[in-house]
Amino acid sequence: MVWSERQRAMLEVMGLRVWSAPAAAEPDAAAATGVDEAVPSVAPARSPAREDESVSMAPARDNVSMPAPVVSRRPTPAAQPTAVPVAAPGAVNAAGLDWPALREAVASCTACALSDSRTQTVFGTGHPHAHWMIVGEAPGEAEDLSGEPFVGRSGQLLDNMLRAIGLSRHAGDTPDPAKQVFIANTLKCRPPRNRNPLPDELARCEGFLIRQIELVRPKIILAMGSFAVQSLLRSSAPVGQLRGRVHRYQGVPLIVTYHPAYLLRQQTEKARAWDDLCLALDTVEAAGSIAARG
Ligand code: SF4
Repeated sequence: MVWSERQRAMLEVMGLRVWSAPAAAEPDAAAATGVDEAVPSVAPARSPAREDESVSMAPARDNVSMPAPVVSRRPTPAAQPTAVPVAAPGAVNAAGLDWPALREAVASCTACALSDSRTQTVFGTGHPHAHWMIVGEAPGEAEDLSGEPFVGRSGQLLDNMLRAIGLSRHAGDTPDPAKQVFIANTLKCRPPRNRNPLPDELARCEGFLIRQIELVRPKIILAMGSFAVQSLLRSSAPVGQLRGRVHRYQGVPLIVTYHPAYLLRQQTEKARAWDDLCLALDTVEAAGSIAARG
């Protein structure tokens, strides 16, 4: 497999250094992986998935040799009919709120015990009508202190991944909502000691997320991590079982993928996260093409 310069840039931003044989290389030479959160210096290529191909990486540990990526052809996954979730019993009622009212409702919320231990709520960030929406899990310590979702190393990795496909969470970067991402968490308050969210907490907070999605009206949703999946798809299946196909949430295409914090621990999964991003790109573009044809 010969990787183009642009494809390499995309792989590197995901932390994957891909071995490729020089002209006279032995056919069974190994590849190496490593962490690299640098921003690519050239615009990344669309993935093989755009050409109905998927990338599979053989299991490998960090910084050890691994086989070169194997590219296999596959049909583009069809959208999966998914039951439309409604707010869970006990959820806060944010129906009809506009952005300022919603922000105020979150900031003053005491609907669950997490309000006792938070430093501040983490509302979400990004263009109010971004075409892309990312739903994460719960604020961690850094988010609780800053009030911003996805900060720290996982936030840097997410920003680099987004930048690699021409997207940004910073509304000032571009006025084009098609290039913008709105990021929100399922929980707006940090669970103490970063414990997992409790079902009751997820259920109560869900009304805010539902309203955020209604206001943004994204073209695509990326659900990052198992708790985002639980909230949006009502599924307790592992992320690994749900990724790789298009789900739907309130009619919006939804792609399941790994949380960046998980990718920092399981670097070999970055190839699959890359695949997920490319599937999302494919899905958005396919929807745009259909709309353009009218
Ligand atoms: S986690 Fe959600 S429901 Fe609980 S207090 Fe915070 S904003 Fe309210």
